[in-house]
Amino acid sequence: MAWDFSTDEAFEEQLDWMRGFVREEIMPIETLLLGHDQIITFIKPLQEQVRARGLWAAHLSPELGGMGFGQVKLGLMHEILGQTVYGPVVFGNNAPDSGNAELLAAGMEMTGREDIRERWLTPLLSGSIRSGFSMTEPNTAGSDPRLLKTRALKDGDEWVISGRKWYTTNGSVADILIVMAVTNPEVHPYQGSSMFVVPVDTPGLTILRDVGSMDDPHVVYGRFGNHAEILYEDVRVPSDHLIGPEGSGFLLAQTRLGPGRIHHCMRWLGQSQRAFDMMCERALSRYTHGSLLAEKQTILNWIADSKAEMHAARLMTLHAAWKMDQVGASASRDEIAMIKYYGATVLHNVIDRAIQTYGSLGYSSDMPLEAMYRAARAARIYDGPDEVHRQTVARHALKNYHASEVPTDHIPTRTAAAREKFADVLEFLESESV
Ligand SMILES: Cc1cc2nc3c(=O)[nH]c(=O)nc-3n(C[C@H](O)[C@H](O)[C@H](O)COP(=O)(O)OP(=O)(O)OC[C@H]3O[C@@H](n4cnc5c(N)ncnc54)[C@H](O)[C@@H]3O)c2cc1C
Repeated sequence: MAWDFSTDEAFEEQLDWMRGFVREEIMPIETLLLGHDQIITFIKPLQEQVRARGLWAAHLSPELGGMGFGQVKLGLMHEILGQTVYGPVVFGNNAPDSGNAELLAAGMEMTGREDIRERWLTPLLSGSIRSGFSMTEPNTAGSDPRLLKTRALKDGDEWVISGRKWYTTNGSVADILIVMAVTNPEVHPYQGSSMFVVPVDTPGLTILRDVGSMDDPHVVYGRFGNHAEILYEDVRVPSDHLIGPEGSGFLLAQTRLGPGRIHHCMRWLGQSQRAFDMMCERALSRYTHGSLLAEKQTILNWIADSKAEMHAARLMTLHAAWKMDQVGASASRDEIAMIKYYGATVLHNVIDRAIQTYGSLGYSSDMPLEAMYRAARAARIYDGPDEVHRQTVARHALKNYHASEVPTDHIPTRTAAAREKFADVLEFLESESV
């Protein structure tokens, strides 16, 4: 029987190196308020070290220029990288580029088109271009992409795209955008939507603004991690900018979102752990009302609850990762959905308790907790809101049950059935006792 929670020694060594590298080399960058180009200058030499270590773009298979780690190893790795916002970009697996690379690879696989590799995939993997994923629209419900309104019409050798998108993360610093549009409104949306690569300098494409958000309320245009609102007005792209066959948009979206969701959950483990570490340190340092915070039962409960919840989230994440490695993302839908909403809640709760433990200092921007809290709030919305994932899980669970007029566990009914089943024994016992 195979039941093993250990990590092999060679990979544990890599993880150890990552822990030190993230703490010593990447985390200090967080404290400098850098613009996009300055960040690139800082991280380039770090990216070289990651490449030399054989850890670059670990999410992709070796034939696509990655490391082919599989989801469990990625999980252990992302847990470390996720502690800091710059971790994933230094390791070549930041969202949305990592998901987009997977999407391009899936398009290549579906069509056998090698040109996709040279034009977009290799530059994306090498970090020489940056991408955005443009699906959500301001005027239709992003939680139900069957309602998408952005259209792409075939005109000779070109596709003409029209629509408005928003929350295209990194849109205003991207070189290419992957746009989801309806190509055939006559069929079910699952068969009538497609994905396109659209270079940002294509005429008709206007980046209207970077949307201010809880994460970045006083947004400065063109910052790394922005969420752009984009207008597509008769944007013409050659027909070979279609990724995958026409009508494969939903299939491609699933390919992208399955692993993408779980990578988020893995990073949240790192964020939760960081908040937990801060909480414990403060509990041991702050004295009030006759004792350290670490001696107050409420604080001890927060520490204990956080540790248990983080442990549960970690096991659920690694189990979902393991299942994806065994049977693929599609057959692991429930596990991915469960950790998406459970992990987002744990992340929020741990950061919230850490802020409370720090009081005014936790609320202040002298600590990273307030920024972590604001970023964590989005986890319940992006890549599908909690409610949609809960609905998926609950509906699948209900498929294993049938309606019953009398509850299966109704005790009087079960007693009658048991009396009938064991009538002989009961009769014998009764006669014996007389
Ligand atoms: C930080 C961040 C980054 C993002 N990055 C990207 C990106 O790069 N590219 C991109 O295309 N999009 C991106 N998004 C958009 C994101 O995917 C959408 O916000 C999400 O899919 C929800 O769509 P919506 O905002 O239109 O909400 P709506 O669809 O309007 O839903 C609003 C609310 O309705 C409720 N709801 C919806 N369905 C159900 C249901 N079945 N049962 C019960 N309640 C329900 C939920 O509470 C939900 O939050 C990002 C969003 C955020 C916050």
